[in-house]
Amino acid sequence: MATNLTMPQLKKSIIVVGAGPGGYVTAIKAAQMGAKVSLIEADKVGGTCLNVGCIPTKALIHVSATFSAIKEQSAKLGITVSGMDVDWAKAQQYKGSIVKTLVGGVEGLLKANGVAVYRGRGIVKDAHTIQVGSETLTADSIILAVGSEPVRIPIPGADLPGVIDSTGTLALTEIPKSFVIIGGGVIGIEFASLFASLGTKCTIVEALPRILPPIDAEITRMVRADLEARGIDILTDARVESIEQSGASYTVHMNYQGQAQTVEGEKVLMCVGRRAMTQGIGLEEAGIVLNRGKIVTDDHFQTNIPGIYAIGDCNGKLMLAHAASAQGIAAVNYIMTGRDSYHAETVPSCIYLEPEVASVGMKEEELQEQGIAYRCGTFPLSGNGKALIEAGGKGIIKILADAKYGQILGVHIYGPRATDLIAAAAIAIRLEATVDEFTSTVWAHPTVGEALGEAAEAVFGNSIHWPPKKK
Ligand code: FAD
Ligand code: AMP
Repeated sequence: MATNLTMPQLKKSIIVVGAGPGGYVTAIKAAQMGAKVSLIEADKVGGTCLNVGCIPTKALIHVSATFSAIKEQSAKLGITVSGMDVDWAKAQQYKGSIVKTLVGGVEGLLKANGVAVYRGRGIVKDAHTIQVGSETLTADSIILAVGSEPVRIPIPGADLPGVIDSTGTLALTEIPKSFVIIGGGVIGIEFASLFASLGTKCTIVEALPRILPPIDAEITRMVRADLEARGIDILTDARVESIEQSGASYTVHMNYQGQAQTVEGEKVLMCVGRRAMTQGIGLEEAGIVLNRGKIVTDDHFQTNIPGIYAIGDCNGKLMLAHAASAQGIAAVNYIMTGRDSYHAETVPSCIYLEPEVASVGMKEEELQEQGIAYRCGTFPLSGNGKALIEAGGKGIIKILADAKYGQILGVHIYGPRATDLIAAAAIAIRLEATVDEFTSTVWAHPTVGEALGEAAEAVFGNSIHWPPKKK
């Protein structure tokens, strides 16, 4: 039915609960699209990501990676350095200043977009009503963006003072001499890399047979070997069973490949996953369906209650900041226009190591499981000038393409600047680009990006800067 433009249109109203990267982006987008928006935040604007997640970790990783680059490379580069040390208090100040700037920036953006911000814990009353403190807010739609928090495995010793989570680790006032890291997921591995560069003896204890399960298996093997070469001990098939305090240090007891084993550390980081913050906010009472604490939604991010949506970490689809923002924008688009805008296949995953890991699209294992005929092109970064200059040529780029038309289905990078380069791959997947389109694009020289073109050439065995496979 055509809209009668002469009829006054009622302004849609939306309440967003939670101001992390999911909620604040959602609120700004909704305001831009003409909605009357209220945003409720119980703690700090910016949520996990800006305050105790992506941003503070990357600020400290910038410190540790700069330190290790100078330490590892200065002699080779002809730079004389003496008396090099890390002033952790200053590093923490640097982290804090970045967080403060960004949180202040988000507050300014919310104000500039006319978003009404309410401080307090939002409680769902019904499909159109949220209680925050003594105020009752109503709106046409509600978008829940309440995020997640770290979980602790319920084992003896889990609550000892030196057993900390990611938030506690970011607040450390001293660099620990040794660190046992329980959980070999992205967060655990990033912290291991960070502290290993600062001289901490790190041991990763992972229950599964491999670290970083969501990452391409070949790249995970390379990452593991490089982490071990940097002195990080990695125990896989190792299930932690208890933790004990022994003087100033902690003993972690585990079942390691069927045998009892212990490892000691001055601190123990427990990063075994995160749970949605969905308790005690009226969800069950309102009849919203949850699955193991996560809010169940359809493809429009709508819950079983029409008009209530859930985006970001709290729906448990993909616990990444940019996924939360993209889901929020998609929910707003759907509410305001009835159209969808979320393309899950374009959501990249990044790990900030030395060098970085980034991937988008399908993994080889997934293609095999789904019986999709594919070809794989890999290009070792030792064949790329810029990667050789910057990181000794460590790493690879791997492109997976559909066997018949060469459509790019997945891109996996281990190497310098991987987390920025992955943007080109995400656009390629969004545009359903083929290997031909990749190889006929001109990549600037000298850049690590050239290796994307080379990996695309490798799909059909035509890399320029790598010898052909022996026939
Ligand atoms: P959150 O950021 O958790 O925000 C939810 C907000 O809702 C919080 O501010 C909370 O106070 C508020 N809230 C909760 N309940 C209520 C309520 N009832 N009423 C009002 N307010 C409420 N992701 C990446 O993409 N890249 C990274 O490099 C990265 N690094 C990370 C490093 C660490 C150490 C951690 C812990 C996470 C990292 N993540 C990273 C994950 C990322 O932080 C989350 O995926 C992202 O913050 C999720 O956004 P969100 O808006 O869904 O939830
Ligand atoms: P993620 O879910 O990516 O945050 O990673 C958490 C990791 O912790 C997973 O790889 C789990 O296998 C691992 N994990 C969970 N429980 C234990 C345990 N008791 N001991 C060792 N690792 C664990």
